[in-house]
Amino acid sequence: MTPPPIIVTNALLFALSGLVALVVVPWYGLTHGYDLWQWLSFLVLFCFSGISITAGYHRLWSHKAYKAHPALQWLFAAGGALALQNSALHWSSDHRRHHRHVDDNEQDPYSAGRGFWYSHIGWMLREYQGERYRDYSNVRDLQNNPVVAFQHRHYLVLTLAANLGLPLLLGVLHGDLLGMLLLAGVLRMVMTHHTTFFINSLAHIWGSQPFTDRNSARDNGILAFFTFGEGYHNFHHLFENDYRNGIRWWQFDPTKWLIKAAAWCGLARDLRACPDERIELARLEMQLKRAQARLRKQDDRELWQALLQEEFDKLSQQLQHYYASRKRLLEQRKRTALAHYDRLRLQLEYRALQDAFIASKRSWSRLLAGIA
Ligand SMILES: [Zn+2]
Ligand SMILES: [Zn+2]
Repeated sequence: MTPPPIIVTNALLFALSGLVALVVVPWYGLTHGYDLWQWLSFLVLFCFSGISITAGYHRLWSHKAYKAHPALQWLFAAGGALALQNSALHWSSDHRRHHRHVDDNEQDPYSAGRGFWYSHIGWMLREYQGERYRDYSNVRDLQNNPVVAFQHRHYLVLTLAANLGLPLLLGVLHGDLLGMLLLAGVLRMVMTHHTTFFINSLAHIWGSQPFTDRNSARDNGILAFFTFGEGYHNFHHLFENDYRNGIRWWQFDPTKWLIKAAAWCGLARDLRACPDERIELARLEMQLKRAQARLRKQDDRELWQALLQEEFDKLSQQLQHYYASRKRLLEQRKRTALAHYDRLRLQLEYRALQDAFIASKRSWSRLLAGIA
């Protein structure tokens, strides 16, 4: 079968910008040098364009994980134009299709099933999408968003102004025009491109699957570090409307921190977070599935299967009781008129269920270790 025609603009853009970043940028550094201001401009623009993709294109517009003030939306639209990854409307349409048909080699625009190269950059080099390229039926809500609609209408002008005009202006102010164009223009753009592309490629190949193995998405702390928190992709594919990707407080997810900070400043609201019990249950179900798979090799597997299932049922029941009690306790705090006796009863009930749940989790861990 003959492959679809090459998209010349994309192929030239990726090839030339990559070549300049790999050859000309280091050559200029060695012969002329870059100063602190040029590196700072590179870093600020890299973070601005990168986080506009993760917090804006991805979590706000593709997944509606929170609502943002128009001022923040305009910022993301500007940063998205600087990132040169097509308009927010087009990006979100591709991304929603990716989630809906993940790993389907025909329907998922950047299916990891077609290999690293295809999911990383290959999918943009040829006209693989065909008629689908201009099908925006899955982003009608965004077509009604004035910021997204404006950015889509004027994307070419905006992206040229951001990628050429801004580094040129900074270069004039700084004095070294070419150095600024190379660092804050080309290298920054190439780095923003490939860190985003890694989410479509590496984050579906390299890492762990603590929440689900029904698709190829992985959690990877190293990738999260380079992608503003998007490396926790296994969690994200199961709980796609959650404004967080790294749910633990220590997991590196600056996009989540930015959204939370924006909410404190009144620039974001209605942050969506999946209930803890659903997240914990998904993790336990994965552990059960893995343990069952390991048991297949053992002779007395039926006995082990029964024990495993019994412990899991007990644990999931305690999990539900514990979280229901926590919910009751939190609601009680809002009801100031509650009698002292009722308040104390709820607290005692909560503590007892918490202890029981922790003890069950310990014996579950011991059982899993015994099977391994
Ligand atoms: Zn994905
Ligand atoms: Zn997503």
